[in-house]
Parts: sequence; C-alpha cells; structure tokens
Amino acid sequence: MLRYRTYPTRFHQNVAGTSTPRILEPYGMLLHTTEGHGMGYLLGLLSGEFARGDGVTPSVHFLISLKGETYELAPWQPGEAFVCWHAGRSEWMGLSGLNRYLLGVEIEHVAGEAYPAAQVRAIEDLMRTVAAAYRGVPYWRGWLLEHKRVAPTRKTDPTSRWAEIMGRVYAAWKEVPMSETDVLQAIANLQEDVDRSQRASSYRESIMVAIANGDPEEAARINAEALAWNKSNPGKPPIVTGYRAK
Ligand SMILES: [Zn+2]
Repeated sequence: MLRYRTYPTRFHQNVAGTSTPRILEPYGMLLHTTEGHGMGYLLGLLSGEFARGDGVTPSVHFLISLKGETYELAPWQPGEAFVCWHAGRSEWMGLSGLNRYLLGVEIEHVAGEAYPAAQVRAIEDLMRTVAAAYRGVPYWRGWLLEHKRVAPTRKTDPTSRWAEIMGRVYAAWKEVPMSETDVLQAIANLQEDVDRSQRASSYRESIMVAIANGDPEEAARINAEALAWNKSNPGKPPIVTGYRAK
C-alpha cells in the first residue's frame, strides 16, 4: 500500500505571482527525474527554503525517494488538486503550458545509475493509486508523459536508464480496470483532443504562411479567428497559436 508523507511546500505561491491556489483538473501525469539532487536539497527547494531569485519556486505533487518513500507535496485528488510549477514551457496535443493540465511526480535519481527495486515498487504503487482515483472522472485523459517528450528542446529527464523501468511504470498506470462508460468517455476525449490539436496546427500553419507572404493583417485575422473559437467553446482547453503582433 502507498504510504504518503505530507510535506509543507509553497505550491500556492507559484502560480503567476498569486497566492491563491488554482484548482487543477488534470488530464494525466508528468514524470520527472531529479538527476543528482539529494532529498535534503529537493525538500528544501520545494518548501521554498532555497527559492530561486526570479520569484518562482518549483513545486510538484509527488516526490519519490531512492529508498522508495513517497512524499505527497500538494493536493492532488479529484476536485482538490492544485496547479503546481514543474513543466515549464511545454507542449502536447495542441496545448501549451502543461502545468495547467498535468499532475507532476519527481523521482529521485542520479543519471547513469539504476533505479532501486524499492523505488520502482513505489512508482508503480503511485501510478495505480492516481489512475484509480481519476478513472471515470470526465476530464481525465489518462496521459502519462515524460518531461523530455513535452519539452524536447530544454529537458532530458527522465534520463538514460529510465528505459529499464519505463515498461513497468506504464503497465502499472494502465492496470486499473475500466468500465464501459470509462472506455466510451476515453474515446470521446481522445476525439476531442485530436480535433483540437488539428485545429491548432492548422491555425498556426496559416499564420506562418501569412507572415511568410508579408501579410501581417491576414495573420492577425487568423489569430482572431482562433481566439473567437476559444470564446465560443468555453470550458474546453484553449487553442494556442503562439501569434504575437509586431
Ligand atoms: Zn523535469
């Protein structure tokens, strides 16, 4: 069974300079490895002791030590989860800024070293616990992503020997059984994600073409169309075009 140690972090101060926690309706989970930072440093960092100069303190929902201890660092249950600060600039399926869509777990690790058996069991336990808690929640997509996949130009975690345990981690995530309703919901969500993703890339492409043709007005018009789509689809994740008026 999963045993959590709760730890006071400063997650509530991390969201765009506000001290009000933002509720997160997560689509899935983002996996990180810490690459050489010991638990003392990590807990100090996450509790704000060693806050960075730019006013941003990283935060994350879970931390799993090399010994296999799981720390619960921020509220994460359906309806109670808070947005944490761990993904940075990131993109997936036409969405950007993935802190707003994903729970996060930091796995203590030193690059090049194997993951100890007790730690792998703790990771598997956490995967089952989170997947079971969110199974059937309408907004949940069941995404299990790695930091390097959503921020490929900036991030390399989880590194090197991750491949040795990756299959077990994904298997534990998928192990929780789904009801028929859950399956149908998952298919509907997937369709919606594909639609949004295609729509987003088509807007982005048209904007790029307009800019390449030296037609900034056309680019602005297409961007306005994307914003209008966001307005007329409230409650849906917004399309991000990346357009900036010059
Ligand atoms: Zn990371």
